[in-house]
Amino acid sequence: MSYPSSYGAPGVPPPLPPGMYPQPTTSSYSAAPPPSSSYNSSTNNNASSYPNSSYNKTGNYGSSSYSSRYGSSSNGDRGNDRSYDDRSRRERKDEYDYYSGYNNSSRYESRNSSNYRDRSPTSYDRYGSSGGGGGGGANADRYSSTSGNYRSYASGGASTSAADRMSSLGSSLTRQDWDLSKLTKFEKNFYREHPNVAARSLTEVEEYRRKHEMKVFGRDIPKPVQTFDEANFPAYVLKEVLELGFTAPTPIQSQGWPMALSGRDVVGIAETGSGKTLAYCLPAIVHINAQPFLEPGDGPIVLILAPTRELAVQIQNECTKFGKSSKIKNTCVYGGVPKGPQARELQQGAEICIATPGRLIDMLESRRTNLRRVTYLVLDEADRMLDMGFEPQIRKIVDQIRPDRQTLMWSATWPKEVKRLAEDYLHDFIQVNIGSMDLSASHNITQTVEVCSEYEKRSKLVKHLERIMDARDNKTLIFTGTKRTADEITKYLRQDGWPALAIHGDKAQTERDWVLSEFRTGKSPIMVATDVASRGIDVKDVKLVINYDFPTNVEDYVHRIGRTGRGGAKGAAITFFTMENSKQAKDLVNILREANQEIDPKLIELSKIVTPSSIERRQRYGSGRGFGSTNTMRGSSSRW
Ligand code: AMP
Repeated sequence: MSYPSSYGAPGVPPPLPPGMYPQPTTSSYSAAPPPSSSYNSSTNNNASSYPNSSYNKTGNYGSSSYSSRYGSSSNGDRGNDRSYDDRSRRERKDEYDYYSGYNNSSRYESRNSSNYRDRSPTSYDRYGSSGGGGGGGANADRYSSTSGNYRSYASGGASTSAADRMSSLGSSLTRQDWDLSKLTKFEKNFYREHPNVAARSLTEVEEYRRKHEMKVFGRDIPKPVQTFDEANFPAYVLKEVLELGFTAPTPIQSQGWPMALSGRDVVGIAETGSGKTLAYCLPAIVHINAQPFLEPGDGPIVLILAPTRELAVQIQNECTKFGKSSKIKNTCVYGGVPKGPQARELQQGAEICIATPGRLIDMLESRRTNLRRVTYLVLDEADRMLDMGFEPQIRKIVDQIRPDRQTLMWSATWPKEVKRLAEDYLHDFIQVNIGSMDLSASHNITQTVEVCSEYEKRSKLVKHLERIMDARDNKTLIFTGTKRTADEITKYLRQDGWPALAIHGDKAQTERDWVLSEFRTGKSPIMVATDVASRGIDVKDVKLVINYDFPTNVEDYVHRIGRTGRGGAKGAAITFFTMENSKQAKDLVNILREANQEIDPKLIELSKIVTPSSIERRQRYGSGRGFGSTNTMRGSSSRW
């Protein structure tokens, strides 16, 4: 079997992971040349100690090294290669230093390209000045990263002081007493109904909503738009959308744009992948362009809170794309990377700030920014943020923002915790739900569940990889239950010559960033992940999701497999299901039946065993979506 040529572009070797992985003992990876001259010099010095490599000789990774691997058994003869552990400590240190340096390189410094609006400073107009962050303790560095929050807070794991740290984070930010009469007025209703939309009868509107599985709740909800033109966006916004080649709004955009443009508070229940980022980004751009310019010292006008830095960076990319024509500057703040560059960008002023809650609180406490100018607030993946234990931080942040702001809350599910947050912070909100509110998987995904033993998983995994990787450009995402398994599987696969990298909550943010980008670009087409990556990651062309370990609940199963089959494409999901997972069998069978999938009779047998846990769960949460995950995540997320 030959290896896909996409991995073998001359001079583009499969990547070595940044520093932390043991190197594979096959020649392929150990011999991969580095992306910079510093590496070259060090490896050249040690050339003789690196394993014999087809890459070095041919400059093409794709052919011989892989075919020799495939030619033999997957545990193949590693020949005369000198293993990683055989190499001197000095060699390994060089390699580590190289990758550490690489990861801290200026790539990160330059991430947030500046697109500040080119407007004359003389047109600045003083804006409202009430409220804003309190001052004081800037001692929250350690707690501020996304992963930091996730690991330390949600897990309650490694240290007993995690809870203390969590409660002290943001303690200097006091709740503001707002006097609305003293706040500068601002405009938030920009919606002008297009004549085509106005002409549609209520029956037509209802038919359209039914066809696109939209349900709306609240008073005076604008009718959905059916085309980009009907949204009545300014030409500079419309131009960017059309340039991307999108043909029509997605359902969440159809209904979400008029709702958001009208200045109302909005709840949108929609999955990642449904186009919801644009549903709130484009109205945000219109909103910003109608506000007075930022003055020196002003914080953002639009604040977007997101659960993970990966999602935050994705949102930033969309904001950059669509904001560039009006020179709207954005910045992204998230933990796990040095604060300095982010603080500088904040201080320079940016109309849009995309933030994970912990790092934003840190920036507020250290007065790197303030929320006095925020008039458009987005809470993205609210359910996920609550799952991750961010509720106290979200409340702290929102309490710093003037109450007559426009607030938009997006969530994939609608459990009672999210409902409560909406009731506390949104006023007279209107809501749109897209899709069935019953948990279901995309029908574009072929789901296969294999009932097996723990022991059988590795060989099954390799068998599936050999099949899928025979094609070009096939990205595979493998989910494991724990960080440890993720590392073990990655090591196992790499030793067997597979281009796999791992991403989980214990990886430094720079490494997570790097791994995700290697996966996204297809340079490393296998990514092993814990549930850190199951939501919010929009990587195109994931062909296969493998659930090496079944997740703790079926909601996470649906979210995991939802990484494939995106944007109407076909996808496949393979799941290893052991006796230990039998509590989930009944729920899983329901998901498979709903999607008309073939079901392993062994799984059906397991599903007939009624377990206390499924009964308990239904009693606690009811049968809709959203049950379970909050508690399971909180209880055991140190494993992720
Ligand atoms: P999101 O749900 O925001 O993560 O979006 C998922 C993907 O859909 C992103 O890659 C968007 O660029 C893409 N997308 C957004 N709007 C549209 C549209 N109207 N038509 C096609 N693709 C879209």
